[in-house]
Amino acid sequence: MNMWWFITTLAITAFICNSPAYAYDNNPLQDICVAVNDSQAAVFVNGKICKDPKFATANDFFASGLNVSGTAVPGSGAAAKFLTVDNIPGLNTLGISIGRIDLEPQGLAPLHTHPRATELITVLEGTLYVGFLVPDRANFFKSRLFSKILYPGDVFVFPIGLIHFQFNVGNKKATYLTAFNSQNPGFIFIPNSIFGSNPPIPDDVLTQGFQLSKTQITELRRKFS
Ligand code: MN
Repeated sequence: MNMWWFITTLAITAFICNSPAYAYDNNPLQDICVAVNDSQAAVFVNGKICKDPKFATANDFFASGLNVSGTAVPGSGAAAKFLTVDNIPGLNTLGISIGRIDLEPQGLAPLHTHPRATELITVLEGTLYVGFLVPDRANFFKSRLFSKILYPGDVFVFPIGLIHFQFNVGNKKATYLTAFNSQNPGFIFIPNSIFGSNPPIPDDVLTQGFQLSKTQITELRRKFS
């Protein structure tokens, strides 16, 4: 084998193996890095631009309002409030955020993933049926459902990137706090992403992909757009 060819191949392989496939929050490289929209007098590190530390105040690290439910999501019986770097600028580069979700009886946080965060929930009130899907190592086309009934005081973890849900199976409101190891966990709601995209995914891709008729795909688009 030609030596230069071998070295080049090795170099390319090493480069590919070291390339990150996903972007994660980095560990902070400074004591504080308060997000600021004014690019004057700012230093770019990662995430958002940092406010000059001499202008930072306690309020940059503060938020209130998790004692009440958040914005209702129409048709889902769910209300959500998330405090990320967009609400608490002092979270910038710290790799953490929090939220509160309230579900009416039969209310659902539908199948979704957080591309940048593991989620940890703590039930304050009510009874939840929760679960996440783990790809089957023996067959990529199958998955295992890890599910559990949760009561007040219970804690459950949804590993990063995996599809999960929370469903209120009790007869009264359920409330839980949710923590993420990202300042910006991201939200991908599976049905809405697929059937509510703009522009729409072509019919042939959806009919074949889901083994459904064109009429059924049209109906799903109507429900999730
Ligand atoms: Mn979630």
